[in-house]
Amino acid sequence: MGLFIGSFLNVVAIRVLKKESIAYPPSHCVHCNHQLKPLDLVPVFSYLFLRGKCRYCKEPISIRYPLGEMATALLFMATYWVIGFKLELIVALFFICILVVITQTDLQEMRIPNAVVATGVVGALGLRLWIHPLPLWDYLTGMLVGSGILFTIGIVSGWILKRETMGAGDVKLYVFIGLILGIKLTVFSLFAASVIGLVIGLFQRVQGKQDKYAEVPFGPSIALGSLFVYFFGEHVLNWYLGYF
Ligand SMILES: [Zn+2]
Repeated sequence: MGLFIGSFLNVVAIRVLKKESIAYPPSHCVHCNHQLKPLDLVPVFSYLFLRGKCRYCKEPISIRYPLGEMATALLFMATYWVIGFKLELIVALFFICILVVITQTDLQEMRIPNAVVATGVVGALGLRLWIHPLPLWDYLTGMLVGSGILFTIGIVSGWILKRETMGAGDVKLYVFIGLILGIKLTVFSLFAASVIGLVIGLFQRVQGKQDKYAEVPFGPSIALGSLFVYFFGEHVLNWYLGYF
């Protein structure tokens, strides 16, 4: 299920960036627009079978598509393993879907489209009104504090460095993440995302791929950090607090 939903999320990411309809027309090659047949659309396997090239125009297909499909499948499996067959599983799968899409769009065009975030916020609100292991106010403060902290960091660092440092998309994304995580894990996830972002940034600079002020998409780090915290945050915090 994760493989096929991951494949659908790729389509969403591609089309939302191009402002196209998600439902129509049927899947086509991004290079030659040739309509794809069912055999071209089997997640991961088609990519391997076609050796990463379009069957019709031979242009390369981005490795991000099969990787996104694999990641969605593995995350779906891990989710079931961590959460089990509970209502919260619905929230978790929705959380993963939105984060996979914004990771794809942010890597492709350094954009976190409003349409995706808005879908996430509306969905998360609806789900949390129905499924909320913590009291509702916990999720609402998570939403306000998470986006508020990122917004403040963006303003202050913008002043100090005299340039835009934080995309508005990242701030809006935290409205969604706060609603899913609740206040405690939201704050923890900001910390986790920053550490991941720092490690990725340092790694790229050591490799000489980035100059000092190059823009690095923060969305993927936010996605990784918040998923990590969603799954393991409670354990890590309990373990850490156990030292005192
Ligand atoms: Zn093609």
